[in-house]
Amino acid sequence: MGLLAADRPKGTTFYGARRHTLGSITFHLNSVAAASWVGTPDVLMSFLSHFDASATGMTHTYHTTAQFIPTTFDLSIQAALAEVEASGGLKPVSIRYVRFFKPVEQQARGQRYTHATIAFADPGSANIAISQGLFFDGQQVQVKKTLPEPRRCLKCQCLGANHVAAQCKSIHDVCAWCVSMHRTSECDMGPGQDLRCSNCKPHEAWGHGVADRQCPTFLEKQAQLQCRLPETKYRFFPTDDPRTWADANGEDSSRMDADKMWRVGAERVGRMVQGGRDGDGQYWRAGGMD
Ligand SMILES: [Zn+2]
Ligand SMILES: [Zn+2]
Ligand SMILES: [Zn+2]
Repeated sequence: MGLLAADRPKGTTFYGARRHTLGSITFHLNSVAAASWVGTPDVLMSFLSHFDASATGMTHTYHTTAQFIPTTFDLSIQAALAEVEASGGLKPVSIRYVRFFKPVEQQARGQRYTHATIAFADPGSANIAISQGLFFDGQQVQVKKTLPEPRRCLKCQCLGANHVAAQCKSIHDVCAWCVSMHRTSECDMGPGQDLRCSNCKPHEAWGHGVADRQCPTFLEKQAQLQCRLPETKYRFFPTDDPRTWADANGEDSSRMDADKMWRVGAERVGRMVQGGRDGDGQYWRAGGMD
């Protein structure tokens, strides 16, 4: 075993590496088989020995967003995820984890549905789910590829920031709800009060907070970001299969109406909670390198 092992897939090559703001690095390999091999525990350990002692690594996952999952679905039951895989025609352990946008304990009383991130271990499984949907507790759920969103600094609330709160040079916090100079968690604004957004001009800022997914500045920055990333123009995760090269904009108008409803629905849900499992993917990432 190890990087020079005989079980290495033929032609395994590192195409390149990308360093991220928070110090992590994404390595791109020439094939799914090569990335899966590097992601196996012993090979990964051998690779990480070339980095700082605190470095950790993980394989890439393929993120999708599923809408209107019944809140009765229990993320903590592995057999339930296995049932989702089986009923969706997926191979076992192809779902690495499901995260509800809104933790169960924060869901409104009587809430029947929630949206979720579903991470897949390989692009093929993600594409099957996008194409056919999945079944949760017997209900069919639509699955879409998750598109990149502009990063927001939780201290200065700047959208499209190249820093996070821990690196923010602003001398004070900006409240995500009322624009005052305090932490959002210290805000005494109550439900139903007019929210304000520090990223929008004053006349536009009424009625929504910084985290609102319908914020005009958010939508503008998101569109700019997605224009720069070629993968966002595809409906699926592109593979060797030409059927996965379908243009995301080639959908009919009824589908676009469904998208509009989807965005309104997505606005009503909040943060994420995780129920997880391990698996292999095409790319992987090592963190903690100096
Ligand atoms: Zn900042
Ligand atoms: Zn406030
Ligand atoms: Zn705004």
